[in-house]
Amino acid sequence: MQLYRSLSFCSLTLCALASTALAASSGPRFYGDPPDDHHPWAVHDGNRPQPKVVTPGTFSSQEQAGKPPSDAVILFDGTDLSKWQGDKGDAKWKVENGYMEVVPGSGQIQTREGFGDCQLHVEFATPRKVEGSSQGRGNSGVFLMGLVEIQVLDSYDNITYADGHAGSVYGVSPAMANVIRPPGEFNVYDIVFRRPIWKDGKELDPGYVTVFINGVLVQDHARLEGPTGHMGRSKPRPFPEKGPLALQDHGNPTRFRNIWYRPLPPRPIEGGTDGYLTTEATMAKRREIAAQIRKDAEGLSGTSQMLRYLESLVYEKNEAAEQKVKELGNQYVAGLKALPNDQLQSKKDEVKSISGNFKYMSKFNLLPASFEPAAALDQMIKEQRWDQEKKKK
Ligand code: MG
Repeated sequence: MQLYRSLSFCSLTLCALASTALAASSGPRFYGDPPDDHHPWAVHDGNRPQPKVVTPGTFSSQEQAGKPPSDAVILFDGTDLSKWQGDKGDAKWKVENGYMEVVPGSGQIQTREGFGDCQLHVEFATPRKVEGSSQGRGNSGVFLMGLVEIQVLDSYDNITYADGHAGSVYGVSPAMANVIRPPGEFNVYDIVFRRPIWKDGKELDPGYVTVFINGVLVQDHARLEGPTGHMGRSKPRPFPEKGPLALQDHGNPTRFRNIWYRPLPPRPIEGGTDGYLTTEATMAKRREIAAQIRKDAEGLSGTSQMLRYLESLVYEKNEAAEQKVKELGNQYVAGLKALPNDQLQSKKDEVKSISGNFKYMSKFNLLPASFEPAAALDQMIKEQRWDQEKKKK
């Protein structure tokens, strides 16, 4: 813990008060490895934005649909089909008792709004009255972007082809387990969908889907092979950025409830900045972070300004910022030297903390080892024998 604090860029009160999006956290700025060619942030970087706060939802029971998490986009909450449409006009499916039900022959329904990568939650119940067999039993489907079918079927004690069971990527990838509840009971789909990404006619990422049924993993980051279909082998092709979620009318009165999704952040390949980045993307992000911190530093003064400029140098070398650190650092040292001894002693922790920040910089060659204010602080710590004290536990 002591090490954590002593290398913290933000152990000074003023620094903790810096108020920009980048400096939103009040924790330490740096003590892990600095940014490199593939990571724009340091390890344990205190400047890295905090994860957004999401209030979790609740689980469903057979009687009652659960609550979605706070940031979910609700597609169906059991009351109406206002977010949905049919092939020709409004959606014609039945809504009652908190669920919607396929009206056989009325056609598939799809969301009015399109979306792409997402975490999707859908609950479905196949008809309590068992009719038909194989693909004719409780058949429907969840069509991601209207193109990739995650099969909905009454797979309870029902033999059919493996790549057509509930939880299959239809015709492509069988579910790894059959965990379907008996007819009439609600099942829960939790799906993570990443669409294919193409550029200039070339596939950069085939896209993937992960599916849980009733909490059991049935598709593990399964590679997509383009839109799914009946009998034909799927073939990769570009997808649009967004597409509607569609539910299939396969002639069976299957029910759905509690449908929502959460959009997912972009992957590095499409401009996302979390994950293993190319050197080009990393450097661009590092420049952006450094520029924001320098801008933030402009609004500060004295020691806190010096530390903020110093932080910017972790992401990007910048002569002007380095010069500012040097000037402010030298002023700081001069101020310390002008203090009477008792007042200087009261600055001990602050001096050691700032010196620790300079040491972090020189350790990773972010500043010259002989950087003037750093050397002066080092010398002061030795003269005052502050380096002789036992470290607190
Ligand atoms: Mg189907």
